[in-house]
Amino acid sequence: MKYSFRTKLSLSYIAVVLVSVLLISIMMNQLLDKHFRDYIIQNQELKNKAVVSQVSQQYKAGGIWNTEAIENICINALEQGMIITVKDVSGNTIWDARAHDNAQCEEILSDMADNMHSRYPHWDGSYVENSYPITSDSGDIGTVTIGYYGPYYFNDSDLEFISTINRLLMGVGAFSLVLSFLVGSIMAKRLSSPISRVIDTAQMISKGYFNDRITEESSTIETAQLTETINNLAETLEHQEILRKRLTGDVAHELRTPLATLQSHMEAMIDGIWEADTERLKSCHEEIIRINRLVGDLEKLARYESENLILHKTNFDISKLISQIIKNFENDFVAKNIELDFEAKEEMIFADKDKISQVIVNLLSNAHKYTPSGGAVAIRIISTAGKTEIHIKDTGNGISPEDLPMIFERFYRADKSRNRLTGGAGIGLTITKSIVEAHKGSIQVSSIASKGSEFIVKLPKQAS
Ligand code: ADP
Repeated sequence: MKYSFRTKLSLSYIAVVLVSVLLISIMMNQLLDKHFRDYIIQNQELKNKAVVSQVSQQYKAGGIWNTEAIENICINALEQGMIITVKDVSGNTIWDARAHDNAQCEEILSDMADNMHSRYPHWDGSYVENSYPITSDSGDIGTVTIGYYGPYYFNDSDLEFISTINRLLMGVGAFSLVLSFLVGSIMAKRLSSPISRVIDTAQMISKGYFNDRITEESSTIETAQLTETINNLAETLEHQEILRKRLTGDVAHELRTPLATLQSHMEAMIDGIWEADTERLKSCHEEIIRINRLVGDLEKLARYESENLILHKTNFDISKLISQIIKNFENDFVAKNIELDFEAKEEMIFADKDKISQVIVNLLSNAHKYTPSGGAVAIRIISTAGKTEIHIKDTGNGISPEDLPMIFERFYRADKSRNRLTGGAGIGLTITKSIVEAHKGSIQVSSIASKGSEFIVKLPKQAS
C-alpha cells in the first residue's frame, strides 16, 4: 500500500501526539492517585487527632464533661464521615454517634462506599475504628473511638477534584490532537509541495523539456539540494541536447561538400563524361580520406565534449609536462627549421593532467603547423596570484582580425584556401577551449596577420 508523503507525515504527527498524550495521562493518573491517596490518609489522621484534641478540651476539672460542645464536635465530624464514640475513663459513654442517630451513620457510610465503588470498582476499603486516649494533667480521662472507611476514602469534593483533573487532561489531549493535526497538515503541505514541483519538473525533463527549471526556493536543506540536483541535471541534459543537435548539423554540413564532389565525379565517370583515369580516381580517393578524417575528428570531438564534464584532477608540475611534450615535437620543429624556446620552471597546478596535455599538444601543433620555416615558437609559464598562465607565442601566419573571434568555433578554419587535406578539420581549438573552460580557466588569443599569434591559457590554482 502506498501513501503520499503528506499523509504519512500528518499521520505520524498525530500518532506521536496520541501516544504522548496517552502516556502522560496514564502517568499523571497513577501519580495523582498515589499522592492523593497518601494525602487523604495523612489528612484523615490529622482530622482524627484534631477531633481528639477538641474533645479533650471539653473536660472540666472534677470529672465534668461539656457534653453540649462534644456533641457539636462529633456531629460536625459525623458529617465528614467520622463515627465517634467518646467514653470516660470508667467506660461510661459520653457520646455515641450511633446512639445519637444510627440511621444517619449508616447512610453516611453507605454513601461513602457507593462513592468509592463508583470511582474505584476494585476499592478494597472497609470500615475501621481507631481508639485514642484522652489525657489531662491528672492522667487518662477517657477514650475517643473514631470509625471511618479506611485506609482511605474520598468525599464528594475529593472526587470532584479528581474528575476535574481528568477532564483537564482529556481537554489538553483533545486540544493537542487537533493542534497536531493542523500543524502536521501545514508542515506536510510545506514539505511536500516543493517535492511535488520537483516531480513535475523531473517528469517534464523525462519527456524532453530540458529547459524546465525549478525556481522555488526551499528552506529545507535536503529539498534545496534535490532542487539543485534536478536543475543541474536539466542543465546538463539541455547542454548535451544542444551539443547533439549542433553535432548533427555540423556533420551534415561538413559531409555535404566532399560527398557532393565525390558524387558528381563518380556520376561523370559512370556516364562516360570523364575518363576514370588515375588523376580523377586519386582526387576521389583524397575526398574519401578527408571524409574519413572528418569522421575521426568528429568522434574525438564528441568524446571530448561529453568527457570534459568529468575531470580527474591531480597535483602536478605543468613545466615538467610541457618539457615532455616538447620532446615528442622536437623532431618536427627541427625538420621544419622552427626554433622552439621554453623556459622551464617548476609550477604546481591542480588539474586533469591528460586533458591539459591535450591543450598543450593542440596549441603547439597549431604553432608548428601555421609557422613557416625559419620562424620561432616560445612557451612561457607565468605565475600570478591565483592563476597559472601558459603563453604560446609564434612568428607564424597570424590570424586576421575578422577570423580571430571565430577560431574557437568548431569546424572553423581561418585559411579557407588552404588544402583541406593537410590542414585539420577546425576542431582542435574547440576541444582546447572546452577543456580549459571545464577547469574554470580561460583562453585568449592575440594575433597580427603575417606577424604571429600568441595563445594564453589561464588556469586557476586550486588547493588540493
Ligand atoms: P585546425 O585543425 O584547422 O588547426 P583549430 O581549431 O586548431 O583547427 O584552429 C582553427 C583555425 O585557427 C585554424 O584553421 C587556423 O586558421 C587558426 N589558427 C589556429 N592556431 C593558429 C596559429 N598558431 N597561427 C595561425 N592561425 C592559427
